[in-house]
Amino acid sequence: MMVQEDNDEYIDRFFNSIKFVLKYFEQNVGEYPYQQITMVDCPRSSASGGMEYPTLFTVGANLFSPENTHYPEKLVFHEFIHQYFYGILANNETAEAWLDEGFTSYFASKVTEEYFGEKGYLTFKAFSYLPVYGTNSKGYKENPTSYSLGFFEYPEEGRALKRYYADKITGAIADTSYKLPSVLSYVINAYSKPELMLHSLERIMGENNFHELIKEYYSLYKFKHPKSEDFISLVKNHTSENLDWFFDNVFYSSKLFDDRIRYLRKVSENEYEFFAERLGDGYFKNDIYCYTESDTIKLVWSEKEKYKIFRVKTKDEIVAVEIDPLRKNLFDVNYSNNSFTVEEKIWGTASISIKWYFWIQNALMVLGSIG
Ligand SMILES: [Zn+2]
Repeated sequence: MMVQEDNDEYIDRFFNSIKFVLKYFEQNVGEYPYQQITMVDCPRSSASGGMEYPTLFTVGANLFSPENTHYPEKLVFHEFIHQYFYGILANNETAEAWLDEGFTSYFASKVTEEYFGEKGYLTFKAFSYLPVYGTNSKGYKENPTSYSLGFFEYPEEGRALKRYYADKITGAIADTSYKLPSVLSYVINAYSKPELMLHSLERIMGENNFHELIKEYYSLYKFKHPKSEDFISLVKNHTSENLDWFFDNVFYSSKLFDDRIRYLRKVSENEYEFFAERLGDGYFKNDIYCYTESDTIKLVWSEKEKYKIFRVKTKDEIVAVEIDPLRKNLFDVNYSNNSFTVEEKIWGTASISIKWYFWIQNALMVLGSIG
């Protein structure tokens, strides 16, 4: 480890995070095949921190960076993980940048969450945009609730969501990097969307199955040049259901997802009706849960139509319906319309007041930071 003289206070944090990520990878992905790893902490004034080379990577650290910002730890994780995704699994970084940056971003979030626990993170960036679920569909620039400062209890993938919301439709993950029209669309399609896609895939396949897939991908393709198709066909070997719809919608093309429940009502003594619809052009095979006071009735909406009116017969009282209750589709741009309760009026008032609460809370936090 080579650390800048004025970064003494980071020595333990650097060392502990390297040890942690190395162990995590040996347990969850595969053996680290080299005898050494070298970390170089670059001067703050340089632009060299945050780059990967075989058995060596560079990082940097801010002057003031308490642990609950998760930096520089997450940067150490990210650059180390490139030893696996780019170094050992040596994909073409220009043609298929997601295979190194996307997998690395996904795992950097997993490792960070495991290292710090799900405690949320601190941001000092005034006016930094963070997703407020349910309000992002308006576009973050017009939305006052989106400008935030302070400590947030968000899962790590919140950082990828934040960038994804900045431009949801320009380019697809499968696109070649240099054909994308802007740096932002490159970053989103190489880092953020692939990270979200892998989290989604993990939720669809189940955690254990997904981890077995990653281990097999590593053992089959280490010291080789894997391509996207190699990974995707391996996914097919690990799943009984055909996931072509998933890759067609989130990998090969750029679709917009906003799945919602428009209404739920009781139509007779033992029967309920609800209206599910897909407002975007994207298709995602959805779970739908109908909540009764004692139970959950689980349905799957696999047909590809834009909307469907469901009828459910039950002796119990259905109090609410929710589409994608397990948040398998991280590309859905608006979660606030995913559920609907029978007591529409009460819920409507509640959700409006929640939005106002967010607005006031955020305004106060921003004002509090001035001076
Ligand atoms: Zn990277």
